[in-house]
Amino acid sequence: MGNGTHIISGRAKTAGVMGWPIGHSKSPALHNFWLRQHHIDGAYVPMAVKPEHLTQALRALSAQGFAGVNLTVPHKEAATTIVDEISDVAKKIGAINTIFVLPDGRLRGTNTDAFGFIENLKQGFTGFNAAAGPAVVLGAGGAARAVCVALIDAGCREVRVINRTLARGEALAKSLGAKIKTLPWQNLATAMKDAALLVNATSLGMTGQPPLDIDLSSLPKTAVVTDLVYAPLDTALLVAGRERGNPTVDGLGMLLYQAQAGFEGWFGVKPSVTPELRQHLLSLG
Ligand code: NAP
Repeated sequence: MGNGTHIISGRAKTAGVMGWPIGHSKSPALHNFWLRQHHIDGAYVPMAVKPEHLTQALRALSAQGFAGVNLTVPHKEAATTIVDEISDVAKKIGAINTIFVLPDGRLRGTNTDAFGFIENLKQGFTGFNAAAGPAVVLGAGGAARAVCVALIDAGCREVRVINRTLARGEALAKSLGAKIKTLPWQNLATAMKDAALLVNATSLGMTGQPPLDIDLSSLPKTAVVTDLVYAPLDTALLVAGRERGNPTVDGLGMLLYQAQAGFEGWFGVKPSVTPELRQHLLSLG
């Protein structure tokens, strides 16, 4: 725990994270680290909310005096139809991961995953430039949508989405525009040939999931390799990229940077992403 005293008085500001299940979430440890670090009278709690109770749970936030919440699997998409206001970036992504309770009790939803993804790349690889060349994104789920929006907004001219279920990739391309191309998994080697960035936005490689088993030999050695999976931190993809000389960026930073805006809005202080914070979260396993 050791980074200061945690004050939780009767006047504490409150926020949390809703998910189902929620036991795996690192967000409580992350936000409570920052609360202790800044000696803030506040609390951030895990909230186990079943999908059928999401509307009720969100509507109760204002009545219970909550400043807001984060949302995780499986609520990010469903919440877009429940909140009263939605930011442009969340609209584009089609998912909400952060909610602010406004002074009049209305709920404003936004999505900070796209910011978290790009900021992590900028901090993890000096000189990162989204316009450097085509990006190859594996996956077409909610996280892949945030990655695609982030890359296009940062100036990437072509994102090649490769997904097991081709139709899901095609739907993503249709909603996000002509800079997104969808390709079948068999075309991965060709897609990587002139790529400047390779992103794993599938759940493959995560503890308890099947491994991500791909051949990197066609990928230029200058391409940045990044994985959204952060458990384990050093995924097989990152190890393989590093061994052949590609620069690599792990996925933990995305989680940390996406959390900053919510914390600042709820608790009034912009928190920093530091090596101590990373170490704290990694020490929890
Ligand atoms: P999701 O919506 O459930 O999407 C899962 C993706 O993985 C889909 O593209 C799916 O393909 C693919 N997939 C799953 N099993 C597969 C298999 N056996 N073979 C091939 N493809 C498979 O999940 P998500 O919310 O996008 O999250 C994806 C990953 O990103 C998760 O590991 C999550 O923890 C991570 N993530 C990390 C951060 C961070 O801050 N670092 C933030 C968000 C998410 P189909 O469409 O064919 O099913």
